[in-house]
Order: sequence, then structure tokens, then C-alpha cells
Amino acid sequence: MEQFDVIVVGAGPGGSTTAYRLAAAGRSVLLLDRAGFPRDKPCGGGLTLRAVKQLPFSVEPVVEARVDAMRFRVGFRAAFERRCKGPVVLMTQRKRLDHFLVQQAQAAGADFRPGCKATALEATADGVTVTWAGDRDAGRTPGQARAAVLIGADGCNGIVPKLLGLGGDYSHGVALEANVPYAAGEEERFRGAAMIELGTVPGGYGWVFPKGDHFNVGVGGWADEGPRLRQHLADLCRAHGVDAARLVETRGYRLPMRRPDSPLVRGRALLVGDAAGVIDPLSGDGMFEAVMTGKLAAAATLDLLEGRATDLAGYATAVRRALGPLMSASWAAKVAFDRFPRATFLLARVPIVWRVVEGLMRGELSHPGAAKGLARGPLRLIQALARAAGDPGRAYKPAP
Ligand SMILES: Cc1cc2nc3c(=O)[nH]c(=O)nc-3n(C[C@H](O)[C@H](O)[C@H](O)COP(=O)(O)OP(=O)(O)OC[C@H]3O[C@@H](n4cnc5c(N)ncnc54)[C@H](O)[C@@H]3O)c2cc1C
Repeated sequence: MEQFDVIVVGAGPGGSTTAYRLAAAGRSVLLLDRAGFPRDKPCGGGLTLRAVKQLPFSVEPVVEARVDAMRFRVGFRAAFERRCKGPVVLMTQRKRLDHFLVQQAQAAGADFRPGCKATALEATADGVTVTWAGDRDAGRTPGQARAAVLIGADGCNGIVPKLLGLGGDYSHGVALEANVPYAAGEEERFRGAAMIELGTVPGGYGWVFPKGDHFNVGVGGWADEGPRLRQHLADLCRAHGVDAARLVETRGYRLPMRRPDSPLVRGRALLVGDAAGVIDPLSGDGMFEAVMTGKLAAAATLDLLEGRATDLAGYATAVRRALGPLMSASWAAKVAFDRFPRATFLLARVPIVWRVVEGLMRGELSHPGAAKGLARGPLRLIQALARAAGDPGRAYKPAP
């Protein structure tokens, strides 16, 4: 049987960047994905600057547009715009980004096998054996390999968490997005700004993102909004004067959100990205979290393989430390927006609060609690609204 130091299942941003880091550190890495690449994934394709800063290399070749202004509305009225001191989001398309990330992992030495769907795992005290089915149409054959460590990066509907008895207890949001080729004048109209529509989808928002030769429209919210997402998307399009017949590549997917104590590690296996349920509950973004957990996973794996640790338990602690405060604040803001949209919107549009949001998006602030100065007043009021809405966020704070 083939032997590797690490097998990574899933070549999204979480899996590919983990594979890159481990291969670049000299480890033998097998990276499996059930899809043939390039492949697409339902996603707005907005890489916040905080995500970009976590990437181990530049993604400039696949950036199609830059956002340095955010336009917010509530209930399709009361708009306000906030300009940023530089780009806060780089816009890409997942079929381009993910292919590029895989190529970087390969260039670092990872053995990438597309069209290979993991179907079974056998975990023992000193490693994990992975069995996969090969996509015959792509000329891939079934196989089996063993590694000292397994990284489950197989996304929201992945098999690794289930087979390991990890995950699966997440709560879910849902989101639906589509592309619209630019008509005359639209590129100029949407250039440079992301439009965020609040108070229109329970538990979420709508968006309009500029891209290279098209723009992306989408809506996301609580899981039980699923049956109404198409209507929400149609409402968003109408509000922007876009005929819904122009939408192409409409697709939806779930947004997995872990519970405070959802396990991340079992024996020689750990989870990253959507497989770990680390989507930000407020924004629905998950690429920053996927890359961040990938970085922590690679560090924990190297600690084990190089004898600095005897197990992978440190990974769970590191994830809670790195993401817990942000998740806690995001849950608080989410329930405050959901229950008291107008009051929260009024507080959120205070310019000093925007500076905090901008700092978070740019990766200059790790979480809102780290903000200093006058912004703390309105942030405390948002927290008070969250408490009145039964804030679930406090449970995500890491133990001091
Ligand atoms: C509509 C929508 C819009 C979004 N917009 C944004 C956004 O603008 N910005 C942002 O940051 N986040 C956004 N997200 C979230 C983001 O898409 C995810 O958080 C991100 O893709 C997670 O990356 P990942 O690597 O963990 O998993 P994924 O990107 O889902 O990758 C998982 C990979 O695993 C593979 N796989 C699955 N099962 C197996 C198996 N059995 N064997 C082998 N391979 C397998 C899949 O083929 C896939 O390639 C959005 C999500 C949705 C649904």
C-alpha cells in the first residue's frame, strides 16, 4: 500500500493550502478530491483581505476585481456607503481560485489526485488508511493509501467527519448565488464596491459583487429560509433592476456552523474549513476560516511528525483561541441584526464602528473586543441587543 506522511481529503481552500504548507515543509502529502479540476463551488468568491493575509502565497493571478467601498441598505432602503483605506475584498471565481491553489500545492510537492472520492477510513493509533473510488470517466482507478495523519477538508457535505464520528452536529445556514454577465454601463456601476442588503433575508443578507466580465448576486440566511431563497434572489435582482432571466450558473449550498464544543480532532485525524463547521455566522464567509484552520492544522501536524507533540489535541485549542472570539462576536451581531435590524443598523452605521468592521475585514483586528477607543460604546450597545436576543455567542469564547 502507498504510504504518505499526510493524506488531505478535499482540495478546496482549506485542503489545498494545508497540503501546500506540509509539502513545502518537506512532508510527503497525498491530496485527494472527488471532483475533476478546474471545478466550481457555490460561493460569492469574495476573499476578504484577512483571508488573503493568511494565504502562504499571492493569489494575484486570479483576482478579477477589488472592493474598496461597501454599500449597505436595510430593507432595500436607507443606503449608506463606507469607503475603505484600501481594498477590503479581492474578488475571484472559485473555479479559478481553487485550481490555482491546487497548482501551488502541486508545485510545492503534493501528489494531487482529482476524480478520487474518499469512501472509507480505517483509523488506528498510529495512522489512518483511506480508501477511494476512482472516477472512471476521468481515467481514475480506485485506491488505498496510509498516512500518519489525515486532514478532513472535504467541505460541508464531506464524508470524513461522519466516518470519524466528528462533526455532523453543526447548525446550518443556506445560500444561493448566480452570475450575471455585464450589460452596457453595469461594470462602471458596480466597480469597486460590494453591495450588502440587510433586513431582507432572515438570518442573513443579500449581496452584489463585481467580478471581471460579470457580477455575482446572492442571498443567504437561516436554514429554514431554503425554500424561499429563490424568491429572495428574485427580490434582490428586482431591487437592482436586474431581469432574473439574465442569471446564469445559479447554485446553492449549505453553510456549516459548528457548535462551541463540536470536536475537531480524533486520534490521528483532524478537520479544517467547512468540514470543521468554521463558517463565520454573521458574514457566511468561510475562506478566511478555511485557510486559518489549514495553517493551524499544518502546524499541529508538523509538531506531531517532528516530535514536538505527542498528539494533535493542540489543534483544537489553537482553533478555539484563533477563531473563538470572532465567532462569539459574529453570533452576537447576527442575532442582534436578526431580532433588532433597524436599531443594530443604526449602531453599525456609526463611522467609528465601520472602522472596526474595516479593521476586521482587513485582518488588522482579530475580533471586535480588541477594538480600542470610542467604538467600544456602540459595540457594547450591540452586545446588549444581542443579549436581549438570547446571544448564543458567549459559549464560543475560549477559556481564559
Ligand atoms: C452561496 C455561497 C456563497 C459564499 N460566498 C463566500 C464568499 O464570498 N467568501 C467566503 O470567504 N466564503 C464564502 N462562502 C463559504 C465558502 O464557500 C466556504 O467556506 C469554503 O469553500 C470552504 O472551503 P473548504 O476548503 O473548507 O471546503 P470546499 O471549498 O467545500 O472544498 C471541499 C472539497 O472537498 C471535496 N470533497 C468532498 N467530498 C469528498 C470526498 N468524499 N472525497 C474527496 N474529495 C471530496 C469537494 O469536491 C471539494 O473540492 C460561500 C458559501 C456559499 C454556499
